[in-house]
Amino acid sequence: MSTAITHWINGQSYSGESQRTANVFDPATGKVSGVVDLASTTVVNEAAEAAQAAFVSWSQTSLAWRAQVLFAFREILNARKDEVAAAITAEHGKVLSDAFGEVTRGLEVVEFACGIPHLLKGSFSENVSTNVDSFSIRQPLGVTAIISPFNFPAMVPMWFFPLAIAAGNAVILKPSEKDPSASLLLAHMWKEAGLPDGVFNVVHGDKESVDALLTHADVKSISFVGSTPIARYVYETGTAHGKRVQALGGAKNHMVVLPDANLDLAADAAVNAGFGSAGERCMAISALVAVEPVADALIAKIVARMNSLVTGDGRRSCDMGPLVTGEHRDKVASYVQAGVDAGATIVVDGREPTVDGEPGGFWLGPTLFDHVSPDMTIYTDEIFGPVLAVLRVPTYEAALELVNSNPYGNGTAIFTNDGGAARRYQHDVEVVMVGINVSFGGWKASLFGDSHAHGMDGVHFFTRGKVITSRWLDPSHGGINLGFPQND
Ligand code: NAD
Repeated sequence: MSTAITHWINGQSYSGESQRTANVFDPATGKVSGVVDLASTTVVNEAAEAAQAAFVSWSQTSLAWRAQVLFAFREILNARKDEVAAAITAEHGKVLSDAFGEVTRGLEVVEFACGIPHLLKGSFSENVSTNVDSFSIRQPLGVTAIISPFNFPAMVPMWFFPLAIAAGNAVILKPSEKDPSASLLLAHMWKEAGLPDGVFNVVHGDKESVDALLTHADVKSISFVGSTPIARYVYETGTAHGKRVQALGGAKNHMVVLPDANLDLAADAAVNAGFGSAGERCMAISALVAVEPVADALIAKIVARMNSLVTGDGRRSCDMGPLVTGEHRDKVASYVQAGVDAGATIVVDGREPTVDGEPGGFWLGPTLFDHVSPDMTIYTDEIFGPVLAVLRVPTYEAALELVNSNPYGNGTAIFTNDGGAARRYQHDVEVVMVGINVSFGGWKASLFGDSHAHGMDGVHFFTRGKVITSRWLDPSHGGINLGFPQND
């Protein structure tokens, strides 16, 4: 039996019928688990109307009250994070511990947003001119839209909405249609936390709903995370319609291993960052740049670790789950074939994996290529699957040039015991997140717009600054003076 999944508008499930729907799968079984409504422009308009109406009063509420709602949401989410993690695993496929970690990362942003009374503080300059004071405040934008990808159905929306809501905006979240259920659990939690109806809305959908958000007059900002071509489209269309847009795109993250590195540490990191969440992480490592003569010894250690990985149903105790859909699994498998055809050496072939799960699941085991060259599609394209490509280079300089000439700039890591080399890399590399003996995962084609999601960048994105200059007349007021103010 598949569940009907519909929108959440004005504090309740949408009651109308949908003309278009999409199947949602349990990736570990391959079966359809839900059918999600895809919003038409009319549905998006309804959500925008509810959000605009809610914004008017929510933006007037006191910071103390908003902080209380944020705290209540934090408590509810913390108590029920298992439920959200289970929903993520059921539709995305990632193993439960990973889904749990995703919710925990989102909670951290909620906790940050609880400090909104402090975060929104302005500044005050007394007597900028005689008897004239100047001060700055930050005000919410209005209706803000969040368009999120499938790979973090809870964490990525939570990069944005806690701060957007805390700052006094109303939100329309358009999550990925591939794993839409986590967003609805979060919507129910907001209601339970006391957030007024209409401040947080969820519309499910595809291009039609995204286009409706990008062009709607009441939507003031767009926060997008997804693949680079769509990020570029969203940035160009949204800004052309006068919206403030932050659009985070795809990634191709390099891990550079120098000959003096601790190879056990490097091999652990390559396997964790290459195959965690089946490579469906924006910070996954997909290109391992081995500075010779390190490659043979490093690859042997990586292969030994890959042989111990268990691929299977994320609800069991496995290391790696299935891919999100059958279509995506087939696409990643076609890249593997392209790598073989292009002449790369396939060291571990994950195309027929042994799995701890049902045969119908969207399985693809961890795959390792050696002798990959920069012109091969397994290197040039973002594969977004459990495929790790080793590129052998002769020197540090060659490694750096490779990383810096790649169009993506999301994350990179260097493994070395040489502090000087690490320091040089952190300075020279044109990538926004740099790990030294740790891997994780923009700049360039990974970020459109100049505002990052986190911290004070987020506060600034979701508010407009205003500077007020005031003078209150006192008995010494000197009457009319047409001259330009003097510095006195
Ligand atoms: P995607 O680009 O296919 O979809 C992202 C969102 O855009 C979804 O909500 C989707 O419904 C919508 N969308 C899809 N096609 C559209 C179209 N033609 N027009 C308008 N909207 C459309 O991305 P995905 O496959 O869901 O997610 C994976 C991608 O996200 C990867 O490229 C990954 O690197 C990237 N990502 C980046 C970061 C980061 O921090 N930079 C974080 C997470 C994911």
